[in-house]
Amino acid sequence: MPKQTLEVRGRRAREERRRAEKALKRRLEGAEAAAAVEEAADILEGDASQVGEGALPDTGWRGLVAGVQRGGVLTVVVGGRTYGASLARELARDGYSLTVGDRVQAVLDTPGRVTIVDVEPRRTKLARVREDRSRRSAFAREEAVLAANVDVAVIVAAVADPPFHPKLVDRFLVICQYGGIRPILCLNKCDLVASPPDLSIYAGLGLPIVYASAATGTGLDDLRGLLAGTVAVFTGHSGVGKSSLVNALLGEEQQAVGTVGAGYRRGRHTTTSSSLLPLDDDSYLVDTPGVRSLGIWEINPRTLAAYFPDFDPIVPGCRFSTCSHVHEPACAVKEAVEDGEIARQRYESYLRLMEG
Ligand code: GDP
Ligand code: ZN
Repeated sequence: MPKQTLEVRGRRAREERRRAEKALKRRLEGAEAAAAVEEAADILEGDASQVGEGALPDTGWRGLVAGVQRGGVLTVVVGGRTYGASLARELARDGYSLTVGDRVQAVLDTPGRVTIVDVEPRRTKLARVREDRSRRSAFAREEAVLAANVDVAVIVAAVADPPFHPKLVDRFLVICQYGGIRPILCLNKCDLVASPPDLSIYAGLGLPIVYASAATGTGLDDLRGLLAGTVAVFTGHSGVGKSSLVNALLGEEQQAVGTVGAGYRRGRHTTTSSSLLPLDDDSYLVDTPGVRSLGIWEINPRTLAAYFPDFDPIVPGCRFSTCSHVHEPACAVKEAVEDGEIARQRYESYLRLMEG
């Protein structure tokens, strides 16, 4: 590979990391999230009577994409009322693809329907790989954004049944960093074991950890506290208890969970691919399928290390500035793994992700 290309990539990696760090810092401060949620609440619970055809501004009303149905049919909430929505021709032509959580400007042109005339830049995104197998080119991968403007991702894992998989947590952490989303680790089913697994690696990364049990209610108040003033998404393997936790938070007891199509997705959202639900007075939940198969989008092998903050202080010690920390000699990261300075499990996750 020409040296120049590597330099450009190195620079891009640094820029990408700086952006991610800045975004993460803002998220951690929480202020921006709280303001955004307040705005969302204004839109979702707004005064419908003020949104009438007689009082229609040319620029449209602020709206929030609250649902995306299979086939891409959108619902948008404007002034507390839900409308079917279409994209204005120019936006459709530009290939805009909207997702739950997107902020838009909408005009009411036909009764009961709105046209989206503008889309605000996304503050954060939860994204995965979408491969277009019909086009056999190197560019046949595109970003599929599952949710926009999400503040917090609750990475749910179980202490047992299914067993705890740290590698999955590592994968979700990269996705969160990439999208500027603040991660929280929720260890569910704590009623099943006497002592939960050692999570000191994650505590060391500054990740908030909630020990919970949807069955007994342990940790739910902690979770509520962390979710206050945010738009959140629950991610994690099937069977770890996401639906159970959400149902417990929603206060919908006695709902059957654990069967296909059951839980908080049942009934209410059978035709909706993704939707936005009020979780509490000041927090929302984006309920989106597909999070289980979350891959990592366009994270170049050269930039992947940038998403492992525990490698940061070590990387400058590698002999080669372009070191991938896989096979190069004099790699400080590999040495740090041997010395126990970097957790082996984290390094193994890194290698796994390098493979794609
Ligand atoms: P999801 O696929 O992540 O949404 O998981 P579910 O919420 O459907 O839960 C899967 C199974 O785990 C169900 O049988 C639940 O009853 C069970 N479960 C969920 N949370 C807990 C918990 O805290 N403790 C125990 N013992 N079982 C739980
Ligand atoms: Zn290295």
